[in-house]
Amino acid sequence: MARIAVIGAGTGAMAAAARLAVAGEKVTVYERSASYGGSVGRHEHEGFVFDTGPGLLHLPAVQRDLFVKTGKESLEQCVSLTQVDPASRHLFADGTAVSLPNASRAGVAAALDGALGAGAGARWSDFMDRARDAWDRSRRPLLEEPLRPDHRVLGRDPYPAVRQRRLLRPARQAGTVAEIGAWELADPRLAALLDGYALAHGLDPRTAPASAALLPYMEQTFGSWYVEGGMRELARAVYERCVARRVTFVFGAEAVRVVEKDGRAAGVELADGEVAEADRVVLGVRPRPGLVPGQVWGADDVAVRAGAAGRFTVLLSLRGGREADAVHRTVVHGADGAAEQEAVFGGRVAAHPTVTVLRPDDPATRPDAEHEAVTLTATTAPQGPVDWRDPEVRRRFADVLVERAAAAVPGLRERILHTEVRTPAETEAETGAEGGAVPPPALAGAAGAYLHPGNLTRLPGLYLAGGWAHPGGGLAHAGMSGTLVAGLVVEGDGFRGSR
Ligand SMILES: Cc1cc2nc3c(=O)[nH]c(=O)nc-3n(C[C@H](O)[C@H](O)[C@H](O)COP(=O)(O)OP(=O)(O)OC[C@H]3O[C@@H](n4cnc5c(N)ncnc54)[C@H](O)[C@@H]3O)c2cc1C
Repeated sequence: MARIAVIGAGTGAMAAAARLAVAGEKVTVYERSASYGGSVGRHEHEGFVFDTGPGLLHLPAVQRDLFVKTGKESLEQCVSLTQVDPASRHLFADGTAVSLPNASRAGVAAALDGALGAGAGARWSDFMDRARDAWDRSRRPLLEEPLRPDHRVLGRDPYPAVRQRRLLRPARQAGTVAEIGAWELADPRLAALLDGYALAHGLDPRTAPASAALLPYMEQTFGSWYVEGGMRELARAVYERCVARRVTFVFGAEAVRVVEKDGRAAGVELADGEVAEADRVVLGVRPRPGLVPGQVWGADDVAVRAGAAGRFTVLLSLRGGREADAVHRTVVHGADGAAEQEAVFGGRVAAHPTVTVLRPDDPATRPDAEHEAVTLTATTAPQGPVDWRDPEVRRRFADVLVERAAAAVPGLRERILHTEVRTPAETEAETGAEGGAVPPPALAGAAGAYLHPGNLTRLPGLYLAGGWAHPGGGLAHAGMSGTLVAGLVVEGDGFRGSR
């Protein structure tokens, strides 16, 4: 039985911890805060309950697999999952509105035809066919295997862009999300729909490779799911599964250094000076110099992503009940996508942000049926280029979000009882990620620029898990990183993914 020290109790690290414990290892998680879950947090205020991180679950297969492999009770026996239908409502700048049904290709096509005009559904459907090819080609090598030694093959974009012939000019093929929107979808609203998926994952549509098409594909194929009580319930279930498998948690324990001995990772030094010895160390937080000896991560020459975007969230306690036909998720698209992207990825505050409005129909989130808890989120520049600690900056941007969200929630401003604002500054404090950046999922294409460092490091015995390691950020992807790390520890460096 090897002693394994895990740094951080984020969902990626906990997934690794539970799987390693089942394999018979003695696992201890060192978490600097007082609780588990990292970005999967909860805010409570006078009977109102809000998720402070992700509000919906996509690709639940990753969590289902974790529960199947680590115990007798399935995911569905540990949390209550419901499909969100419609999966999302979209309000476009020209006033068009469309509700997209959950996990129904035909339903989405019909809804787009009805709202955007005949042909829009077929264009989106053809795009989804190509996105499925990208998913089929990248699923195994990109998501379900440790980063391959020949990862340069992942630098090629798996999205089969349409080759477009042009009169007297060279043919062209979309290489980015924005180019798919402009050249293949050929409708500003469909383009905004696709841009919205990229932006929600913290990706700049102008530069993100076309393979980002698999993000809407995953969501529209495998569905959008809500965890009753909020997403924090999922973190609780994963934590309880870890505890049931005898993983030890030490809270209030900040790791300041991975200890190296005889050329191997040999433990963790904590902020109080204590050294916890271990045979292997799993780093579930953003790697940085000081915490790890030298630059041992990126054994594969893939660097930790720099300059990722953050999230700005407004938690609203409202008087008045939720209308019976209210939609769970509405995306209010920005009036000028290019200007928004320039601001977010250029380190400025966007004037007209795309705002996601979440209105869960869940009694656990409100004091009674005469009240409602609503969450507004926008992707923003990280803390640093914008000072999100400045009260005036926070107040002004929160006001912009409320203004834009009014299109999705009737009488919103008059109904507000209490407002709580959370910015990349809070995310930085809670996850330890510089600037409060939220790591995007890994993507193939763009010569490998959207990959994350592999789970193996140059220091034997030190592994990387969580959103800043392969295959990247988001609940599903970070969960996959936990699977891969457990595989590498248990089966050795030659582990090539579960068959
Ligand atoms: C506001 C917000 C919105 C998001 N929205 C979505 C979404 O819609 N969909 C989606 O899929 N994902 C979303 N994410 C991302 C998603 O929550 C994460 O990618 C996922 O939870 C995986 O996190 P992680 O495993 O990398 O750990 P993290 O959540 O980053 O947690 C890291 C943990 O490590 C601890 N820690 C840090 N440094 C140390 C140290 N030195 N010693 C000990 N402990 C330490 C931290 O306290 C924290 O508990 C969102 C994130 C945020 C912040």
